[in-house]
Amino acid sequence: MNVLVIGGAGYIGIHTVKALLEAGHTAVVFDNLSTGHQEALARLPAPVPFIRGDVTRAEDLERAFKEHPVDAVMHFAAKSLVGESMQHPAAYYHNNVLGGVTLLECMRAHGVKTLIFSSTAAVYGEPEAVPIAEEHPLRPSSVYGRTKRMFEEMLEDYRRVYGLRYAALRYFNAAGADPGGALGEDHDPETHLIPIVLQAALGLREAVTIYGTDYDTPDGTCIRDYIHVSDLADAHVLALEVLSQGAGSGAYNLGNGSGFSVREVIETAERVVGRPIPVKEGPRRPGDPAVLVAGAEKARRELGWRPRWAELETIVRTAWEWHRAHPQGYRTARAGAPPLD
Ligand code: UDP
Repeated sequence: MNVLVIGGAGYIGIHTVKALLEAGHTAVVFDNLSTGHQEALARLPAPVPFIRGDVTRAEDLERAFKEHPVDAVMHFAAKSLVGESMQHPAAYYHNNVLGGVTLLECMRAHGVKTLIFSSTAAVYGEPEAVPIAEEHPLRPSSVYGRTKRMFEEMLEDYRRVYGLRYAALRYFNAAGADPGGALGEDHDPETHLIPIVLQAALGLREAVTIYGTDYDTPDGTCIRDYIHVSDLADAHVLALEVLSQGAGSGAYNLGNGSGFSVREVIETAERVVGRPIPVKEGPRRPGDPAVLVAGAEKARRELGWRPRWAELETIVRTAWEWHRAHPQGYRTARAGAPPLD
């Protein structure tokens, strides 16, 4: 299929573009490069057309739909930081909600009826029980989570009235890097735990600060379900294929179903890098639930999804190989620094 990938130059988007190409699909990447990296496209196994555009601008989207055949859309373009969303809600409603509707309207104008959407575990809020099933009530505790829930609601209305076919994929904690070494995580500023731990291991930052040691968990630190980015990418391709074969629309959790505390992640990273990592203890980060673990049976059952890099150690190892070889992210490649691996 010909897939238009909105936000395809970002971390999860580019790994998914690679998975699409490997599965025999074609892709066009549309990205405003606010957080994505055009350099990443040169590291794909085949050339992919690139359109620099913004999902909130209908005229930018029009270009993509006019210039390329589009059978389906994958939508990754969103602002995605919980803390920032609480400080700057307008930017989140603008990008994630207005951008989403603009995209849906463009798809409708061009008769494109299949959409795979990046949703998030943040739609659930503080869980009543773990693992969290898709039927769990949606009570997001952040603006970010609310924008994603709103868009999921719109998808359901577009399905009912306009015949949209969609999958809303609720990611737990995306981590790791392309096992082939070509692609990885490169955020500026970086806020995610695993890259921060590895940057501390590389001496690129003084230490990793643990946000809260007084949670009601066995070691007092937050528990999360880390899922390899290439496993997430595979789930997008499967969702696309299953939808195009006539499966019903809906939401799917994507996680491994096992939780690891912040301390366990740091210990795993110390094993992978083979040395101690400097750690500080700090206060809780507002908006962080104590435990988030996915019940991901639905994706296994209905999409046939089988995570290939499920072990935390494997996830951290692939991330380590990327960060070690690209301490400045994709800029390292541009500067021509010799790879370490
Ligand atoms: N975390 C931490 N120190 C950091 C970054 C994150 O202790 O420098 C914790 C954070 O409080 C959460 C977990 O690590 O419990 C994962 O956070 P991340 O930002 O990676 O993902 P999120 O759960 O926010 O999607």
